[in-house]
Amino acid sequence: METATDPVCLEGVSVRFGSREVLRDLTLTLQSRRVGIVGRNGSGKTTLARLIAGLIAPDAGRVTVAGVDVCTDRRAAIRTVGILFQNPDHQIIFPTVEEELAFGLRQLGRSKAEAREGARAMLARFGRDDWAERAVDGLSQGQRHLVCLMAVLAMEPRVIVLDEPFAGLDIPTIRALRRYLEALPVTLIQVSHDIAALGEYNRVIWLEGGKVAADGPADETLARYLAAMEEVDDADADL
Ligand code: ADP
Repeated sequence: METATDPVCLEGVSVRFGSREVLRDLTLTLQSRRVGIVGRNGSGKTTLARLIAGLIAPDAGRVTVAGVDVCTDRRAAIRTVGILFQNPDHQIIFPTVEEELAFGLRQLGRSKAEAREGARAMLARFGRDDWAERAVDGLSQGQRHLVCLMAVLAMEPRVIVLDEPFAGLDIPTIRALRRYLEALPVTLIQVSHDIAALGEYNRVIWLEGGKVAADGPADETLARYLAAMEEVDDADADL
């Protein structure tokens, strides 16, 4: 039985880049614990992920997460939603692990000492106490992903958006990160091409050309998506 979670609501949302409409009048309420988003390259998945995290504003419509308007109330948004990108190097800004983890807590208004303490507590939770002083540059790709995950979790978001977070990692590393994520009492919204992983989600949405092409239980949406992809001619590859 699925537990109800904080709703993510999009109401008549459109996003344009220049003359191109990338998301077109989307109205969606996401209230499942695990929501997957699939679609071809360029279908608008990353734009949707960034919108839910409040990183971009829509040209029309409104996005709320747990009642917070994430575009207009940035301070509340950073407390409510976290995002993990495909490439941890696009996320990490500080040279050491502790500084990276403390930064988010400073943004939430914690003192330097509280932020440091919070960072250390998060490292301890993951059994990585000895990483505090480590240079992020010296960590592996998987370890840098874990730093990003810990930095997001330190802020105690209610919703985490994952934009292709595991591309390029080996299977045991993906499995370990997924275990961490799935044990969390938060809503996960995951953009992914990993059909097997999304098969375990409560709900999957297929985006096509900035619109919802299918939306429902994972097995149904994924079956329709895969059948449609079989029909796509090689000439239509995104090359
Ligand atoms: P997906 O994640 O499904 O591959 P995106 O949301 O990244 O799709 O992109 C959707 C479309 O919007 C693509 O055609 C992309 O080139 C375009 N796009 C995305 N971000 C920008 C931007 N900042 N400026 C201009 N075009 C963009």
